[in-house]
Amino acid sequence: MKYYSTNHRAPEVSLAEAVKKGLAPDKGLYMPERIGRLPEEFFGNIADMDFHGIATAVAEKFFGEDIPSEDLKKIVCDTLNFDTPIVNVHDRIWSLELFHGPTLAFKDVGGRFMARMLSYFIAQEGGTGKVTVLVATSGDTGSAVANGFLGVDGIDVIVLYPEGKVSEIQEKQFTTLGKNITALEVAGNFDDCQRLVKSAFMDQDLNRMLTLTSANSINVARFLPQAFYYFNAYAQLKRAGKADNVVFCVPSGNFGNITAGLIAWRMGLPVKRFIAANNRNDVFLEYLRTGIYSPRASVRTIANAMDVGDPSNFARVMDLYGNSVEAVRKDIGGCRYTDDEIRDTIATVYGKYGYLLDPHGACGYQGLADNLGDDENGIFLETAHPAKFKDTVEDIIHKDVDIPQRLRDFMAGEKKSIRISSDFDDFRQYLESRN
Ligand SMILES: *Cc1c(COP(=O)(O)O)cnc(C)c1O
Repeated sequence: MKYYSTNHRAPEVSLAEAVKKGLAPDKGLYMPERIGRLPEEFFGNIADMDFHGIATAVAEKFFGEDIPSEDLKKIVCDTLNFDTPIVNVHDRIWSLELFHGPTLAFKDVGGRFMARMLSYFIAQEGGTGKVTVLVATSGDTGSAVANGFLGVDGIDVIVLYPEGKVSEIQEKQFTTLGKNITALEVAGNFDDCQRLVKSAFMDQDLNRMLTLTSANSINVARFLPQAFYYFNAYAQLKRAGKADNVVFCVPSGNFGNITAGLIAWRMGLPVKRFIAANNRNDVFLEYLRTGIYSPRASVRTIANAMDVGDPSNFARVMDLYGNSVEAVRKDIGGCRYTDDEIRDTIATVYGKYGYLLDPHGACGYQGLADNLGDDENGIFLETAHPAKFKDTVEDIIHKDVDIPQRLRDFMAGEKKSIRISSDFDDFRQYLESRN
């Protein structure tokens, strides 16, 4: 299968190249040339299939021409060493819990899958060269990618993060790992980290010396596997006899997660509609209302993984809908919540139903509570475990939050990082010194 750039000014590439490059040379995002539909009988049987079986069938549609079945199955099954259960919160609202992986957030799925696929392609090429993965993070991406790549052959990972601007829990999840993972603590903000990574990709000398790749959510190997759990959620609803008029509500930042859901829909998943839930960073909702997309600087909120002012995957949404706002409006609704509203939601749902939401999932839940019709069944994506936002959540419910053992283990580790300035020359020198 070929992958084209959403900007249509770069040549089509193979899967291997799309995965290694991340971003297309014309700065567009790669898309698969075809989105194959799964057969009717697949949906007829889906309630009797397990997650590995479902995900393997979905993966075959994208990657089956490029990776032999047995190898692909191994990549899928190694990736999904945890479940994505749906839990009924009340009435017709379900939580799709995506936090049962190693770093307790949905990004584990894409991070683990991309690591295994990249390692597979490197091995195919003879496995001589090392690939250096650069990832800028404001918190969650770094931990999911670093843990996904930990100990994977042929790959070094360098995580750049802004000094003093990520929580201790997040920091520990990528600074305590060692092995092939290095954390760089940048004297600057997240935008500086992203700028350093982008500059490194554009530096020709560096690229002659090192094979650099990006693991941000634009990479097709991180983005497409997120379709797996939409199918798995549907299978569980079907088992519960509640699979009519399904609505997915997705707490969105860079819009990678919801785009994977839209692709699952194109593959035939019986969904009625989607809702994109935003915090105060609501450029998408504004686009739905006005038809005009005007990116702007992000503002800080308590759902900070959604603090994005110019969602990178907006280009993929436009590509899927031929740039037509009318077409987008037919399929996707929108909503936005302030920090106070998010706090209210967490307190209310915990008090009334005993279900503890994290600040991102809270936007997803409220999007359904406010918009779900009487004949609809709603699933919101609970994108992270509430313990990852311990201080925020404890302030709201006035109770201690249980910390899962996996998180405790990270907290007990010793932080190791290298400090650099936000000056590109320093970063380049560091990269050169590794060679
Ligand atoms: C990354 C993230 C999001 C946003 O997902 P996108 O794919 O960027 O839209 C939402 N919630 C959590 C917890 C995240 O880590």
